[in-house]
Amino acid sequence: MPRKDNTMEAANAHDYLAMVLLVDDQAMVGEAVRRALASEDDIDFHYCAQPDEAIAVAERTRPTVILQDLVMPGVDGLTLVRRYRENPATRNIPIIVLSTKEEPTMKSAAFAAGANDYLVKLPDSIELIARIRYHSRSYLNLLQRDEAYRALRQSQQQLLETNLELQRLTNSDGLTGLSNRRYFDEYLGAEWKRAQREQTQLALLMIDVDSFKAYNDTYGHVAGDEVLRRVAAVIRDNCSRPADLPARFGGEEFSMVLPATSPGGARLLAEKVRRAIEAQQIPHSGSPTSACVTVSIGGAVLVPETTQISSRLVEAADAGLYQAKRNGRNQVVMA
Ligand code: GH3
Ligand code: MG
Ligand code: MG
Repeated sequence: MPRKDNTMEAANAHDYLAMVLLVDDQAMVGEAVRRALASEDDIDFHYCAQPDEAIAVAERTRPTVILQDLVMPGVDGLTLVRRYRENPATRNIPIIVLSTKEEPTMKSAAFAAGANDYLVKLPDSIELIARIRYHSRSYLNLLQRDEAYRALRQSQQQLLETNLELQRLTNSDGLTGLSNRRYFDEYLGAEWKRAQREQTQLALLMIDVDSFKAYNDTYGHVAGDEVLRRVAAVIRDNCSRPADLPARFGGEEFSMVLPATSPGGARLLAEKVRRAIEAQQIPHSGSPTSACVTVSIGGAVLVPETTQISSRLVEAADAGLYQAKRNGRNQVVMA
């Protein structure tokens, strides 16, 4: 058992690869660091002698740690540290600055510029390698955490979309795509309360296909379903305001909830829907009243009193519908 543990530990120690970028104008330093790291097979090494190419090289080589010389001709090392920090591609890469001497003001300036560590040249190779591994590992952990966080956010987003889709399916009627009875009840209840609070008019239209049993008997249920879809489409097209709700109340009966709508407005809209369905000229040879598919519409408008419940409005619209049927169908009656 102990042997197995040791092997696993050894494997874990090398399950990542450190990539060191050294930026130093002195080739001698470059060579010394290369040699110090040569026998470490988990550490890759890249050397850049040109300070003005450092950012581009860092973007290209994607180091897990940068060894940055402080004193160089042309660009000041501290300025480079600040530039790594400003650049989104290098912002989080750990930086170990290499200084020629142990000097407090220099040290604090380096940390203020964004360095993570400070070493005096040339550090002994044990310390250098230990710090490279330490900083590389913490950087890779950071990247992994970011990646895990991104994945988490993504799955949360997917869940949200699935929930929305589920909600849409729960609220809609499978045949016509209009809101179903469940959602109609919920919506009417909410709009009723709002109209009660604000003392505004709430209109409701109940739309019933005329002699639809005869249609099914003549053309079959599949053709009947198609008629229901076409009627639904007309109803949907006539709900122009965002608050208007078209719904399948049940069977061949539809409804439109029309918040803040006057009796005159509701009647006009009902008449428009009735005519649009008649204009479809869907043949209905079995109908005792018309050669094509028609609907009867009952409408009602109420400013809800505090003691009334929303079914009051449904009953009123239903009374209009009943009257429209009795009067001979294919017409609108406002209760
Ligand atoms: P009225 O003019 O008085 O409304 O007569 P009607 O025949 O339309 O009314 P009735 O209530 O007697 O019949 C309604 C018919 O609607 C009976 C039923 O089979 C049919 N129906 C209800 N839901 C569906 C459906 O989803 N698809 C089809 N194809 N038919 C349906
Ligand atoms: Mg009917
Ligand atoms: Mg009916």
